[in-house]
Amino acid sequence: MDKKRYAAIVLSAGRGKRMNASVPKQYLMLEGKPVLSYALHIFEQSRVEEIVLVTGQEDVEYCQKEIVDKYGFSKVKKIVPGGKERYHSVFCGLSELSTRKEMPDYVMIHDGARPFVDLEMIGRCMEAVEQDQACVVGMPVKDTIKIVNEELFAQQSPKRSQVWQVQTPQVFDFLLIQEAYQKLLEREAAGEKIFVTDDAMVLETMFHRQVRLVEGSYRNIKITTPEDLEVANIFLQAAY
Ligand code: C5P
Repeated sequence: MDKKRYAAIVLSAGRGKRMNASVPKQYLMLEGKPVLSYALHIFEQSRVEEIVLVTGQEDVEYCQKEIVDKYGFSKVKKIVPGGKERYHSVFCGLSELSTRKEMPDYVMIHDGARPFVDLEMIGRCMEAVEQDQACVVGMPVKDTIKIVNEELFAQQSPKRSQVWQVQTPQVFDFLLIQEAYQKLLEREAAGEKIFVTDDAMVLETMFHRQVRLVEGSYRNIKITTPEDLEVANIFLQAAY
């Protein structure tokens, strides 16, 4: 059987307003290295053949010199500027990959602000996506979840075993996710309000496709607020 070709899109174009720092969260330092470099390092070691890094327009040069060149990430073939919302940035990455003479079979979309993706997780995703065309990593929630109304009264308490918190990587058949994003952007251009916060939602809302959940890890946190950075430091110290 022929080996499938994988590409990764690593997203790093967010401004990180919730961190209250002048530097976006993905460029803050963790044990002397930028947060973003951890995920790039893992994808560099994986079976992924090419990484497209999506950053803010003003950060392209910094990322090239201070991250890609400095740490020798040879699979980062292109750094492209992203867009206003996360889904715009994903579309920029997909558009870049679609210009390749040989397009990838599958694409892994990953938040650059999640430094603790690992090779085992990536392996589980590859197995799942080759079977089901669309999968995302996540973990069952530990707390009880309440759906609330606008006055903050609990309306529903879904069964905990059926509620998962979703992480990245989110992995898809390349042409399938590209088509779904194309449709999303067309609908937005036609004036529709778009509310998607992850890639699975794009497939669900555009094509009503089911997306499979794959076991991620409770360590696979997204660095969003200052506490997350403290937790990440503890994880790193524990690893030695
Ligand atoms: O904002 P959020 O926490 O959902 O961001 C998740 C990831 O998406 C981060 O790595 C962030 O840099 C990226 N992002 C992006 N372009 C945006 C917004 C977020 O690449 N416009």
